[in-house]
Amino acid sequence: MPPDHISHLQCVLCGTTYDPAKVTYTCPTCGPTGVLEVYYDYEQVAPRISRAHLAQERDTTIWRYRALLPISYSQKEIPTLAIGGTPLYQVERLRKYLGMSDLWLKDDTRNPSASLKDRASIIAVTRAEGKTVACASTGNAASSLAVQAASVGLSCYIFVPQNAPRAKIVQLLMCGATVFAVQGSYDDAFDMCIEACNTFGWYNRNTGYNPYLVEGKKTAGLEIAEQLGWHVPESVIVPTGDGCIISGVYRGFEDLYLLGIIDHIPRLIAVQAEGSPAIVRALEGDGVVRPCEAHTIADGISVGLPRNGAMAVRHIRASHGFGVTVSDAEILTAEKELARRTGVFAEPSGAASYAGLLRLLDSGKIARDERVVLLVTGSGLKSIDAVVEAAGSVVSIEKGSAGMNVVEKTVQSLSSTKEPDTYRGSRTSNKEPSAGRGLRGFLKKLVSKKWGS
Ligand SMILES: [Zn+2]
Repeated sequence: MPPDHISHLQCVLCGTTYDPAKVTYTCPTCGPTGVLEVYYDYEQVAPRISRAHLAQERDTTIWRYRALLPISYSQKEIPTLAIGGTPLYQVERLRKYLGMSDLWLKDDTRNPSASLKDRASIIAVTRAEGKTVACASTGNAASSLAVQAASVGLSCYIFVPQNAPRAKIVQLLMCGATVFAVQGSYDDAFDMCIEACNTFGWYNRNTGYNPYLVEGKKTAGLEIAEQLGWHVPESVIVPTGDGCIISGVYRGFEDLYLLGIIDHIPRLIAVQAEGSPAIVRALEGDGVVRPCEAHTIADGISVGLPRNGAMAVRHIRASHGFGVTVSDAEILTAEKELARRTGVFAEPSGAASYAGLLRLLDSGKIARDERVVLLVTGSGLKSIDAVVEAAGSVVSIEKGSAGMNVVEKTVQSLSSTKEPDTYRGSRTSNKEPSAGRGLRGFLKKLVSKKWGS
């Protein structure tokens, strides 16, 4: 049964509206690129959600926003893994370093499968009605679906490109999913997954195809607004691949705005890798998303043909936002610096938001007194291969007094090293501080073997 508080679905390309009882995935006229957007009957929703309701609500997971989720109000059973309710940090050290007064970090590595994708997968397993579930993914969406399919006992098939990170594949297999590693790109895996779902009658969890998954991701936006006491930020910076997360964040703020709970929708800023820039190109051009070759170390946002591109462009423009690209080198530097200055270890695609922030500070597109939220979408622990080189080296020491001598020298050398305490632009901050170069030289002499090699 489709939820009765959903009024209709509308195609992002041709604008045709559909009865949610009659169409499951994309627009029958436009095909797979005709992604459908979910519209609610706010007269049914409004009595169930307000600032006062939420102040009384004790559930800290995404289900506190159940009134705004595409699950029928009459459905009794919902999955029990705790999704959402992730921290929004004040990041004092990072604020001080960047000279920003109102910077926040939304840490979505803190979900059961360690990524924001859990917010979408929970909607898929709830709506699957016992069917086998499947998805194609660069990694996180798949591991998230596998984790949640395991929690409710659904069979799960996953299509990944063969270069998907090891840790994510292991997580899939451990949770009992059957994994097909497609000898091709993410885009090839996506097409094969759709075909298999059609053939075998599985429930398709692909965002940018299944209209309800963006609705799960919107809980990130709902949480940011509520955690800031409804004083919404001026900008939210979002790592962007397919365009589903940024559309989700927009939808969260849009719902609250339409319900009169907040007074404006923040500017949404999409950060893409220079090697995977389709949505940023569309934003800077005529708004049409065209496929491009995708090459970036940030596997989570490595997408040649963004499946939710048209919707993302529309939402970013509606929010008066824009896009920015960052290089792989900037992403790696950002990942390391973010971990060192906040304790949040993001994966490369998750750290892209911070790399984007640095670019925007350099260019003056973001002011230092703006209220800005950085969205960190996934944990670095799942993509360590990408950063083994950038992480640095361990100091290998002998047992006993010879080793202790080295420990002593290392401590002395470190005590004379000072990290830069203010950000002076990416051109200077990407380089080692001069004292650090001395330390690096000292360590190099000691270290014969790179950690992890
Ligand atoms: Zn259409």
